[in-house]
Amino acid sequence: MKKIGFIGLGKMGSGMAKSLIRAGYPLVVYNRTLKKAEPFKELGAEISKTPKELGSIVDVVITMVSDVPALIEVLLGEDGAAQSAKRGTIFIDSSTIYAAASKSIAKELNRRGLEMLDAPVLGGPADAEKGQLTFFVGGKKEIFTKVKDLFDAMGRKTYYLGPNGSGCYMKIVVNMLRAVFLANFSELIMIPLKAGIDFNTILEILEEDSWGPLIKKYKGRMFDPNAKVKFPISLMTKDIEYALRTGFDLKIPLFTVSAAKGLFEIARSMGLEEKDYTHVYYVLRKLAGLG
Ligand code: NAP
Repeated sequence: MKKIGFIGLGKMGSGMAKSLIRAGYPLVVYNRTLKKAEPFKELGAEISKTPKELGSIVDVVITMVSDVPALIEVLLGEDGAAQSAKRGTIFIDSSTIYAAASKSIAKELNRRGLEMLDAPVLGGPADAEKGQLTFFVGGKKEIFTKVKDLFDAMGRKTYYLGPNGSGCYMKIVVNMLRAVFLANFSELIMIPLKAGIDFNTILEILEEDSWGPLIKKYKGRMFDPNAKVKFPISLMTKDIEYALRTGFDLKIPLFTVSAAKGLFEIARSMGLEEKDYTHVYYVLRKLAGLG
């Protein structure tokens, strides 16, 4: 059986790593903050002190870290997994990053005789915990085929989409539809609210329209200022930045994403980075003078 290395035991990575253990894969884990890795010992995983140590003893390395600088550090940094990995090791990156960065990391790994797939995910921490994620995969088809079983262990559905970067392109679209919808909805709902129309009646009317299922999905979190954070403003702002870079690279003007960026930047400047991204509703309330 393939020996798997997992780097990045945050909200998403910890659930994904547990799914691999449940499926019976021998697992080695690394997390920058060691404390988060310790519980994995009891679950039967080995703990590595550095990504480099991990890279030398596994056949596949899966990464689930915050952003591009984090990924470069754990793969190509001085103590990075790619420094010690044997030829043919397969790297699977599930972090949400932008395609140009992912492609250039893949190129560097290939130059060292290593393989890489980008495999960002759809689904949150609860889906990761249950092994119910959806994967968008880019990279060589023959490499994907070799590790398809790992996606099956961590997810409910996997789409192989094409060469390196393809997974990143698709993931950024999914997240931007959410960011733009949230910004747009939060902004427009201020009109009836400020006009004094009853809140429940506003929601009832809006839910009758085609956006109903989305409003129903978000309203529990959105209208509770202390809602559990599923996806923080900090990560969504990072994704917006990555989407705009992708648009720039492909010469696609992303007007609505640019507008949403402004709102998320304001939220950050108000110190709300760690709030759930639906919290932009409260930012709009403030801007609209509704407190
Ligand atoms: P998270 O809980 O903040 O975890 C981030 C992980 O990255 C942690 O393990 C963190 O280590 C590690 N990390 C950050 N900077 C690092 C560095 N410089 N060197 C080494 N490790 C570093 O985030 P998450 O929610 O799991 O998200 C992880 C990725 O999945 C992000 O790209 C996010 O956009 C994407 N994603 C998230 C969700 C979601 O609902 N949360 C859904 C889909 C995709 P420490 O523990 O030491 O900080």
